[in-house]
Amino acid sequence: MTGLRSRDAGHVLAISEEMEVSASSVILAMGIEYRRLHVPVLDRFLNAGVFYGSSQADSQPFAGQRVVIVGAGNSAGQAAIHLSRYAEHVTIICRGRGLASSMSQYLRDELDARGNVAVRFGTEVVDAAGEQSLERLALRGESGAEWVSAQALFVLIGGHPRADWLPPSLLRDEGGYVVTDDSIGSAWRLERAPLMFETSVPGIFAVGDVRSRSVKRVAAAVGEGSVVVHQVHRYLESLTAQVAFAER
Ligand SMILES: Cc1cc2nc3c(=O)[nH]c(=O)nc-3n(C[C@H](O)[C@H](O)[C@H](O)COP(=O)(O)OP(=O)(O)OC[C@H]3O[C@@H](n4cnc5c(N)ncnc54)[C@H](O)[C@@H]3O)c2cc1C
Repeated sequence: MTGLRSRDAGHVLAISEEMEVSASSVILAMGIEYRRLHVPVLDRFLNAGVFYGSSQADSQPFAGQRVVIVGAGNSAGQAAIHLSRYAEHVTIICRGRGLASSMSQYLRDELDARGNVAVRFGTEVVDAAGEQSLERLALRGESGAEWVSAQALFVLIGGHPRADWLPPSLLRDEGGYVVTDDSIGSAWRLERAPLMFETSVPGIFAVGDVRSRSVKRVAAAVGEGSVVVHQVHRYLESLTAQVAFAER
């Protein structure tokens, strides 16, 4: 989809420059584009030691392994604390000179207290090696590049919702995520309250990662997807009721 606009009581979606489809209701579920490191060899190890996002940190303990985390934000700090409970050693890599401007104090304090967590500033990942899965990473800092043992690399440098093509009439938060139901506030124009997962444009719903304040997990996205169908039915019923009322 490349465009969305409202027409009469419905919505028109642009599929390409030549083709449009119209619908009474629309569900947005475009997810997030995670920022990637520009190190092509890492693609070889995707989900075989290299992970974008922190979800894998929850599901795999990485007991006794050496883990590298790229990132300087709270998600990197939280992942480091979680992983340090199981991993032999966790190294946080960041390009900047400190964490103070990007990571909460309580996380920095907790990281300081862990004996098996190190932070390397002014450093970046430049190469990777391994047979079936990740075994080593090349890190480049001020004193040059060196290979270190690493069985897991988490890249936690943020992401961006795939929502740039949406019209400005559709309320989004400061991160670009689509705002729904209770969070819409004064941008909501109808007398009735917004339905669950309904956006600031009546009849357009948003679920999954693209939704503001959603839990960025598969199970949550699937759950929201099943719930929103019921909400769409409610919305369509309300349209039918309006037409019946107008025809009386
Ligand atoms: C590398 C990685 C590993 C992860 N591991 C886990 C894990 O182990 N456990 C877990 O619970 N979660 C994990 N997650 C998070 C999980 O993948 C997401 O929470 C979940 O997929 C969100 O589902 P979604 O439907 O909202 O978005 P997505 O799964 O991202 O699906 C969005 C879909 O919309 C399509 N799309 C986007 N824009 C458009 C457009 N304009 N027009 C048409 N189609 C479009 C995309 O191509 C995509 O197919 C991981 C995420 C990443 C990136």
